[in-house]
Order: sequence, then structure tokens, then C-alpha cells
Amino acid sequence: MGKDKFIWCRNCDAVHHVTHFDKAPIYSFVAGEVEESPADDWRAFMKRHEGHRLEPLEPLTEKCFPDASVFDPMSVGYVEVTNGQDRILLRQVRKSIYEPLSFELVAGRLIDQGVTVGIQDNPIKKEMKYHFEWSAEPLQDDKIDLFIELYREVVKEIKPEEIELSGFSFDDANVSFGLPEPRVVELLMLKCVVYFRSNELLDIRKFIDSHIKGCDVMALVMRRQIILDRPAA
Ligand SMILES: [Zn+2]
Repeated sequence: MGKDKFIWCRNCDAVHHVTHFDKAPIYSFVAGEVEESPADDWRAFMKRHEGHRLEPLEPLTEKCFPDASVFDPMSVGYVEVTNGQDRILLRQVRKSIYEPLSFELVAGRLIDQGVTVGIQDNPIKKEMKYHFEWSAEPLQDDKIDLFIELYREVVKEIKPEEIELSGFSFDDANVSFGLPEPRVVELLMLKCVVYFRSNELLDIRKFIDSHIKGCDVMALVMRRQIILDRPAA
């Protein structure tokens, strides 16, 4: 799990996120000049909560961003942590882009519903149309749809734990990509044999082989479904 650590003040219900940046200086512009002021958030927190009951918290889950991107600095994230006894939900917020992340205790929990495996329907369709645009006999739209339908059928049988990770999504923290095994491609080609002519089969095979690596359009999409369960306000 993540290496994040937190300190929880049980008297004030305040949470401090322990980071490498705790001792980093803060730079600010004062009258056109950069001014450096030493900051030690950890020390400041310890001083503010001197004599209070402090407990370390460790993450139980990965951070989760239910309705936004991990790469949006203003996204609200959640993480479940424990003091060794209780499960506690923390909400990560940033009041403005200029301020560091802060964490607060909130009621609720994260429910991990596991990983689903799918394919990239629309990107495949777009890429196939583009790919075959210049060929002597371009694949017609209905044939492209049929190919996507067959691929979806083959992928239905794959378990997430059997998939080799090949990349991560840039805009969704819960999405990663996987490389389909050679037997998956063979099975797909076997299904295609029934519906496509031999020259089409060659084209399709070439298309698959050149679009299967990393996050390319034939890569599998593995989506972790995490649901935020919060009591109604
Ligand atoms: Zn306190």
C-alpha cells in the first residue's frame, strides 16, 4: 500500500500528513523578490497539539478520487487509514492551488468492488477507420463494429489477475491498461475467420499487432471500482 503516513490528534480531530516536504522552505514573492522562509509543518503541528493525544495513522487503501482525476490538483481524494484499531476515512482537499494538501476526518468508508476488464470500444473504432482509410478495400463500419463485438466477447472470459499490466491512464487513477495474451489474440482471430475475408483477416491481424502495446487502442482496460459510501448529510 501507499507510503503515506499521518498523525491524528484525538483531542482536536486534526490530521497532519507527514511528507518529505515537511522541512522544505516556502518561497514567496515579496515586493518582486523571492523570499525564503523555513517551514516545518510537522514541528508546527506537534507544537500546536502539544500535550494532546496523538496517534499515527497508516493507509489501508490506495487514494481514491471518486468523481475526478488524480492529476487535477484540485481533485478531492479519499483514503482509508487505521490507527491499528479503527478504520478511518480521510478526505484530501486543497483550498486553493497555492496551498498544500490538507486532510480531514469524514464519516463513511470506501468500498472496493474489484476490477472489471473491458476494451476501448470508441478508440478502436476511430483508429480502425483511420487505419483503413487509405487501403484499397477499407473495412466498412459494420465490419468494424462486428470486430469490436467479437473482441468484447473474447475479453469477457479474461480474469483481471491473469492480465499483464502495460500502462496507466493519464486521467483516471482507477484505470490501468493490460496486454492481451497471445492466446486471446488467437481466439479473437478464430472468431473473425467466420465473418471476414482472408485479405481482411490479414489487415486485422496487422492492425492488432501494431496497436496492442502500452496504452494503445487494443490494450485491455482494467477499471478498479471504488465506491464512496458516505452517510447522507
Ligand atoms: Zn490537538
